[in-house]
Amino acid sequence: MNRNHCLMALAIAALTLSAVTPRVHAAKKVLYFTKSSGFEHSVVARQGDRMAHSERIMAEICAGKQVELTITKDGSYLTPDRLREFDTIVFYTTGNLLEPGTDKHPAMSQEALDALFAYVKDGGGFMAIHAGTDTLRSEPASEYTKMVGGTFRTHGAQEVATVKVVDPNFPAMKGLPVEFAFQEEWYLHQQINLGKDMRVLMLLDCPNMKQDMYKELPPQPMTWCSNYGDGRVFVTGIGHREDVWEAPWFKGMLDKAFDWTFGDVDGDASPNFEKFLK
Ligand SMILES: [Zn+2]
Repeated sequence: MNRNHCLMALAIAALTLSAVTPRVHAAKKVLYFTKSSGFEHSVVARQGDRMAHSERIMAEICAGKQVELTITKDGSYLTPDRLREFDTIVFYTTGNLLEPGTDKHPAMSQEALDALFAYVKDGGGFMAIHAGTDTLRSEPASEYTKMVGGTFRTHGAQEVATVKVVDPNFPAMKGLPVEFAFQEEWYLHQQINLGKDMRVLMLLDCPNMKQDMYKELPPQPMTWCSNYGDGRVFVTGIGHREDVWEAPWFKGMLDKAFDWTFGDVDGDASPNFEKFLK
């Protein structure tokens, strides 16, 4: 096995001697892409061959769903044909992925990037976690930013802040408190909602934060979804810290977000951005 990507074997549930015949269906497939062409976050940094913190948690989430997970930092793994094998592609990446950059793993090709857009437009699932928005940034906005719905602008020092769930009926938000607070590195985004397709799911309560750079702002989108063509895109700015990845609510949010990006459950992705931000 190439050391750059780990294929997690499908977790086989213990069979019991019940009379229930399991329905046979093909396992869903997820690709978790953790290449850092820019800053490398600790949650995607590997120690030797040991999977990174977020990679291990992603494996745990996928095993719990009997989903087949492939993890790679190798941009050349993402070929147009291969992308289409997956039900959802997840980016926890940074920088210009068309260059090897910081972590020196091979770059993506422009052909693969174009194929990614086509894959999502044709009905694929895509997820960007935290630095997934700090990726392929440009002025004017890149097609990647348009697909994701925004790009990283800045963040302050970590602090405890409150997030507010504004669409409790969306699958990934189900079961979350209406509002809750935790320590995190809080991203602010720009080039937001250029496709006029953003459905805000969770807002960062900026006015009640400590640092001036936040509290002068109205509440900002922190988790959202959209339809890009026929595809389903789920984005969260959360996911910097190890303990955030370990939090049951965060794992649960990603777990349920997959149900939606797979197309297994319905969720209203109609735009609502104007309701919250002008
Ligand atoms: Zn971060």
